[in-house]
Amino acid sequence: MNLILLGPPGAGKGTQAKLISSNFEVPHISTGDIFRANISQNTELGIRAKQFMDKGLLVPDEVTIDIVKDRLTKDDCKNGFLLDGFPRTVKQAEALDKFLSQNGKKIDATILIDVPKEDIFDRMTGRRVCTKCGASFHVKFNPPKVEGICDLCGSEVVQRKDDTEETVKERLEVYDKQTEPLVVYYKSKNVLKAVDGTQDINKVFKDISNILGEND
Ligand code: ADP
Ligand code: ADP
Ligand code: ZN
Repeated sequence: MNLILLGPPGAGKGTQAKLISSNFEVPHISTGDIFRANISQNTELGIRAKQFMDKGLLVPDEVTIDIVKDRLTKDDCKNGFLLDGFPRTVKQAEALDKFLSQNGKKIDATILIDVPKEDIFDRMTGRRVCTKCGASFHVKFNPPKVEGICDLCGSEVVQRKDDTEETVKERLEVYDKQTEPLVVYYKSKNVLKAVDGTQDINKVFKDISNILGEND
């Protein structure tokens, strides 16, 4: 299964991606996680990406597309993959389609996690993420079992630098302008499925599992 998770920042893409990846055995590919790993290792890519991320802006398409293509060529993507946070622009979506068709593949489902703007600020400002595996937690809605420690890998969980109110506002505007058009893009390709992302985490996952079951 070749899958995409779509939705505004804070919709729960990362949270659901961890569940899907472990239950359906597909590698979780998060461009945000890749950029953050590069930032913490101070690579050239990390230094470049950080300038955009800190402002809530998108990293340029040409940089992002190459990274994803490279990742999709790896062995673990042979039988499927789960993209989280990519594509985020029509240009990225077109480049992905071209790359997949050149490799005899296609997207099987794009799952839109629908959450209204009103819910997003609370989610983003209370979000805490694992510095090692990228798992998302929430101080109120999904606290780690031991405060400050990741349930999955035992590393430290911290607040992201771009999860401030001001940057979140910018990111939502960027989503509306640059990413939301992908809903129509994937609808027209008949692969779009929407789930209600305001439900609790397990119910959202159940809805997604049902969709993926139909796709099997
Ligand atoms: P995204 O990857 O789409 O930005 P995350 O998965 O990081 O979103 O989730 C954003 C925040 O909202 C996190 O703090 C997460 O714990 C919390 N969250 C995720 N799903 C839900 C949900 N269904 N209900 C309440 N909070 C949620
Ligand atoms: P969120 O969980 O809020 O959806 P991500 O972790 O996916 O955020 O992304 C964090 C930041 O990384 C984005 O605001 C953007 O600057 C950059 N980024 C991630 N994915 C992409 C992409 N596909 N194209 C451009 N920039 C990206
Ligand atoms: Zn972790």
